[in-house]
Amino acid sequence: MRVIFAGRRKTGQLDLEAIEMAVRAALHRAGAAALTELLRFPAPAPEQRRLVCACGQAAPYRGLRSKPLLTALGPAEVSRPYYLCPHCHTGQFPADVELDIQDTEFSPGVRRMQAMVGQEMPFEHGRQQLELLAGLEVNAKSVERTAESVGQDLARREQEQIQRAVQLDLPIVVGEPVPILYVEMDGTGVPVVKKETLGRKGKQDGQPAHTREVKLGCVFTQTRWDKEGYAIRDPDSTTYVGAIETAEEFGKRLYVEAWKRGWSRARKKVVLGDGAEWIWNLAQQHFPGAVQIVDLFHARQHLWDLARRLYPNDKVQQKRWIRIQQNRLDKGKIEQLVLALGSIETTNAELAEKLRTEAEYFQTNTERMRYPKFREQHLFVGSGVIEAGCKTVIGSRLKRSGMFWTVRGANAILALRCCQLNGRFEDYWEARRAA
Ligand SMILES: [Zn+2]
Repeated sequence: MRVIFAGRRKTGQLDLEAIEMAVRAALHRAGAAALTELLRFPAPAPEQRRLVCACGQAAPYRGLRSKPLLTALGPAEVSRPYYLCPHCHTGQFPADVELDIQDTEFSPGVRRMQAMVGQEMPFEHGRQQLELLAGLEVNAKSVERTAESVGQDLARREQEQIQRAVQLDLPIVVGEPVPILYVEMDGTGVPVVKKETLGRKGKQDGQPAHTREVKLGCVFTQTRWDKEGYAIRDPDSTTYVGAIETAEEFGKRLYVEAWKRGWSRARKKVVLGDGAEWIWNLAQQHFPGAVQIVDLFHARQHLWDLARRLYPNDKVQQKRWIRIQQNRLDKGKIEQLVLALGSIETTNAELAEKLRTEAEYFQTNTERMRYPKFREQHLFVGSGVIEAGCKTVIGSRLKRSGMFWTVRGANAILALRCCQLNGRFEDYWEARRAA
């Protein structure tokens, strides 16, 4: 400080940014030195120089050991008693358990920062943010490792909760009744490293897959609608769950989330999705009694694809055909639509097959496409919330160019990201400390 102000007197200039950064660095260094003093544990009293080892034998005290520790104030050091079991050679640092720095050289405060930036942005960006915002020097790999290990811990706790939930009946969540509760789900591919797709077929026949499907679900509520009767989502009411896993595993995950959000006290329940079979299987299994709605825009897309096949290179005919069929779809006259598709004659075998599968798609989903009925109840008929979720939760973090994930890494970051977006990270961090 004296140097800085002496310089100012000489030149009459003050570079505030240089000063604030220098002062922060100096305060950090002073703080880290104080922390190092605080973290110098005394040797145990002679009568306390034995611990019980996990193997049941006694582990005698073997002296003080120190390790570097990166704290929110920069590099510090901790020196604490070490105990070693002569029978199974397991070492113990009781102070590390107390300080929550077991098997890590990062303090809890720094680990939390790393987890936070790691779920938000690429690890290298996270490293840069920590340097600029917190004055901390870490490398991208450590941001990755820490974020993943926090994410894995989170995922493990969630799995325990899911197991408890499916074994026992879930506790009734007390609270105000929810007018309308929505559950939406969708799948989206995330690029993965080669070993994660061995033996899996890609979307194009014979081509290996380069992606694995993340199943994403969201739960939100609706209380109001606008003057025209269109549904309005309750602000900040959306929570997400997602993972690369089987539909069966994902179903349990989403069920637990819906339960937390008040499934049992919802007056009206809605499941919205595209036509994918797994979605409706899960709806049947976990969300009985819900109104099932196929996203209107996916259904329209099916008609557009058909129009292009029926009238290739004839935009006028395509539009004419679409107008008629889309009108039927929007009015929920699905039986008419199915009949219309069935009555189209063609000698093209491929087109005939396409017409057959599309007719089947609309027939299977007939009751899920009664759009006027849904609109009368002021319900959403589009799955825009989950599609936006696929972009914000998954795309913007896991599908950037040049990224290739392991399933383990992707699931850890997803767990962390959902927890943060759901506003539950604080609770998790507190619970983890209490454990
Ligand atoms: Zn032992």
